[in-house]
Amino acid sequence: MRTLDREVVIIGSGPAGLTAAIYSARANLKPLLIDAPPDAARQTTPGGQLMITTDVENYPGFPEGIQGPDLMAAFRKQAERFGTEFLEEWITEVDLSERPFQLQTADYVINAQTLIIATGASAKWLGIPGEAKVPKGFGGNGVSACATCDGPLPGFRNKDLVVVGGGDTAMEEATFLTRYASKVNLVHRRDKLRASKIMQDKAFQNPKIEFIWNTGVQEILGEPETGVTGVRLRHLHTNKEHLLPTAGVFIAIGHKPNTDLFKGQLDMDEVGYIKTSHRSTATNVPGVFACGDVQDATYRQAVTAAGTGCMAALDAERFLDHLPVLMPGGDEVTMEGEHITADHQAIIEPDGSMVSNHPETLAAQKK
Ligand code: NDP
Repeated sequence: MRTLDREVVIIGSGPAGLTAAIYSARANLKPLLIDAPPDAARQTTPGGQLMITTDVENYPGFPEGIQGPDLMAAFRKQAERFGTEFLEEWITEVDLSERPFQLQTADYVINAQTLIIATGASAKWLGIPGEAKVPKGFGGNGVSACATCDGPLPGFRNKDLVVVGGGDTAMEEATFLTRYASKVNLVHRRDKLRASKIMQDKAFQNPKIEFIWNTGVQEILGEPETGVTGVRLRHLHTNKEHLLPTAGVFIAIGHKPNTDLFKGQLDMDEVGYIKTSHRSTATNVPGVFACGDVQDATYRQAVTAAGTGCMAALDAERFLDHLPVLMPGGDEVTMEGEHITADHQAIIEPDGSMVSNHPETLAAQKK
């Protein structure tokens, strides 16, 4: 076992983790970035979800668009240029009960003064034939889990498309796709939607969206040259099957934030997204910050992940400089454990005593 002691440890190498690395490396904090080895079954891909996308047309700064893997290679090169240290290891255990936080892998014990969690989220998949990534299936060649990313691509324009799911994501993706598609068939396994009323209403009112109820997608069909050409559907009550021609299938059955490692140690919502202050990236444990999709069920874009990665690095830097960092409850906390109340009136010292946060009052108290 080797022991590493670091001021900033980042977990995850998508846009959030690598941006946090670029900022903290430039601030001379010598970050260590840990990412999991590639593993298709566990959906771990160094570089994150952009590694399974093709054209990225909405990342600012690339007027002609850029391939997802090329964008992530550039992020990584930039993080390396400023001295980020990389370690490809599975983290098996995390102890956030005291600082330095301790991370364990098969070969290392890593002590971290601050921890930036950027482990992302994974799209849920149906697990049906034809869905896997090219060359095994049509993933990236007509099958996608992100309409915002892939919907505007030429292959989907003026075509009939399929969206699978009945939640807010499915409604949002179907509505978005009607800007380009000639028609969107929304396939849902029940006869009731899970989505919020306002999102349902918007989808029901959209003349380009047709609902196919009580139906499951059994298989995605196509040819390597043309990509997706259709889906085999099964009515889940009658078991009758039929083929539906389509040029694209958007799977919108939810995401799973990659937070199992931190369960019981960090505050999370009911789905498992880490709760942060949202005006900072602080979690409920002082010195632990979260950025990117692991704490964002709403925007989930590369550029917002990179933005919060920058915030996490600046928050960690502030914390290491002994300055107060905004916590989820609205109070601020320093590395020494001083709490500044949300109204900024008082400081609660680590021993529980309370003093005024106003220098004049403090001077009077001392007299
Ligand atoms: P949800 O878990 O809300 O919905 C998932 C949908 O996919 C459900 O309708 C579910 O069916 C269906 N589904 C799940 N597994 C399967 C499967 N194996 N086969 C077929 N269908 C399946 O996930 P969302 O991503 O839609 O939403 C997650 C959270 O993010 C929610 O809180 C949502 O409100 C929020 N969100 C908010 C948005 C906004 O406000 N702009 C946009 C997007 C998401 P069933 O209903 O039968 O369980």
